[in-house]
Amino acid sequence: EKLKDSLLKTKKNIIEKIEGLFSLHPTINDDFLEELEEILIYCDIGVNATLQIIEKLKDRVKESGVKTPDEVVETLKTIIRELLETKYRGISKDYPLVIMVVGVNGVGKTTTIGKLAYKYKKEGKKVLLAAGDTFRAAAVDQLEIWSQRAGINMIKHSEGSDPAAVIYDAIYAAKARNVDVLICDTAGRLHNKKNLMEELKKIKRVIMREFPEASKETLLVIDATTGQNALAQARLFKDSVGIDGIALTKLDGTAKGGIIIAVALELDIPVKLVGIGENIDDLQEFSPEDFVNALF
Ligand code: GDP
Repeated sequence: EKLKDSLLKTKKNIIEKIEGLFSLHPTINDDFLEELEEILIYCDIGVNATLQIIEKLKDRVKESGVKTPDEVVETLKTIIRELLETKYRGISKDYPLVIMVVGVNGVGKTTTIGKLAYKYKKEGKKVLLAAGDTFRAAAVDQLEIWSQRAGINMIKHSEGSDPAAVIYDAIYAAKARNVDVLICDTAGRLHNKKNLMEELKKIKRVIMREFPEASKETLLVIDATTGQNALAQARLFKDSVGIDGIALTKLDGTAKGGIIIAVALELDIPVKLVGIGENIDDLQEFSPEDFVNALF
């Protein structure tokens, strides 16, 4: 299916290198493990996550005599799935639900909000959008296009108004209309980081204060094609705003799918959604099992 296709480049990147490794080192010795370590790091899995994986692989080689390339790949697959599963938390299924979506401009935030809104609508949920990026007029217009495409209402104010006020209005509209899922867009300008983070924290406070009975998700959108840069963004948003999960976009057409592992194991943030194309249907809930099955 589509996830498999999206991860083909990532898979090819990893598997070809592991096969090459076996032609150089037919037995699993220290040289083999050292080079495998380099391969995993090179595939955007991250240094820390790679070390965790290699340690576990060493144990299993000792315990159960893993020898052939197929056995190594099978063992890696199990290790990665188990590690991801220990870190995994799905998106909240308690309603009413408020999802605050954060992320840097250009990563696919608007598109992800449109797809997510549509996904909930298809599941029979009543959805409302809040145009919280009042900094760019184009952001509101773009979100409005998606809201029309998905057939979903949107709360907006004029350009330059206080984003927290938009969210405040949206919360009261959501309550009055018995909305199940309120999805809040936010600004993603990075030229003044401190100012942006303060704005996001203020929005978060408004949601907490005005809608205590709702369950809440702060979802960070990052772009898989940017690899280590995406990881740095995740660290920044985690430390300054706090996030519950990640929507990883543009998994189609990148060989850097390994960052799912880095994000989960190094930053302890679960990837909850993956974007696998530009269409309204191209968003999936992440599953560790489907991910490793597509990867190996
Ligand atoms: P924003 O500035 O973060 O709101 O970014 P947009 O939502 O406008 O998206 C930027 C570009 O990325 C657009 O051309 C989208 O079509 C594209 N895009 C977003 N998500 C995906 C995805 O999962 N796969 C692909 N291939 N393109 C995507």
